Amino acid sequence: MSMLEVKGLAVRYGRHEALHEVSINVAEGETVVILGANGAGKTSLMNAIAGRVSPFSGSIRFLGEEIDDQPSHDRVEAGIALVPEGRGIFPGLSVRDNLKLGGYPKRARENAGSTMERVLTLFPRLAERLDQLAGTMSGGEQQMVAIGRAVMSAPKLLMLDEPSLGLAPIVTQQLFGDLERVRQAGTSMLVVEQNVRAGLKLADRGYLLTAGRIVREAAAADLQGDPDVSRAFLGGLEDAVH
Ligand code: ATP
Repeated sequence: MSMLEVKGLAVRYGRHEALHEVSINVAEGETVVILGANGAGKTSLMNAIAGRVSPFSGSIRFLGEEIDDQPSHDRVEAGIALVPEGRGIFPGLSVRDNLKLGGYPKRARENAGSTMERVLTLFPRLAERLDQLAGTMSGGEQQMVAIGRAVMSAPKLLMLDEPSLGLAPIVTQQLFGDLERVRQAGTSMLVVEQNVRAGLKLADRGYLLTAGRIVREAAAADLQGDPDVSRAFLGGLEDAVH
């Protein structure tokens, strides 16, 4: 059964149609990557699924239920967690408090202690820095805080919007190693990435989004080196493809 099923989704900002008839799905335990150049509509897709923007048309089902009309906090309760582009952590709070804030959904509260232990095992660096203000952490560490906070909500589907943005290649590599462990623990993931190589290495399957439309869908291994993918990223991003 599909965990997430998006059908015919359109998102408009005034007269600009950012997403046109977008249909994607994520199966239980699957990791799916959305590839696309700047402005392709990746963030609009994530935000629509998380309930941060209202679709113009189409439907979004999660675990068999239509969630289109649910506010974003209900979607978090249902098991959808978004790590937004730019991370969205609280810089003036400690790492510990940022993580604790992630554990607010009812579903997550009961096991908050063991989930915290799990997060600190996944990200040992955070265990060393629990009392540090999140805003003083490095970019890669802040991304770990953001992901750790999302994991604290015990998500069934973890969505990540460009986790590698602004990170040095070596830090990106470490981060994707961490995400691989999250994947192996059985959490389904939907990841938006411009770093094609890293995204495809992590994912089981991928979609290529170009100018608001899904133009390609295939197993991640088949998208590696795909000419459509390379073409979509021409103009400075070829390095990420090859
Ligand atoms: P990037 O990789 O650069 O973040 P993206 O693939 O995530 O891009 P979106 O942020 O979803 O793309 O934007 C898709 C299109 O919609 C862009 O042309 C963008 O300018 C436009 N857009 C996004 N948000 C708004 C908004 N709030 N109002 C008007 N236009 C918007």
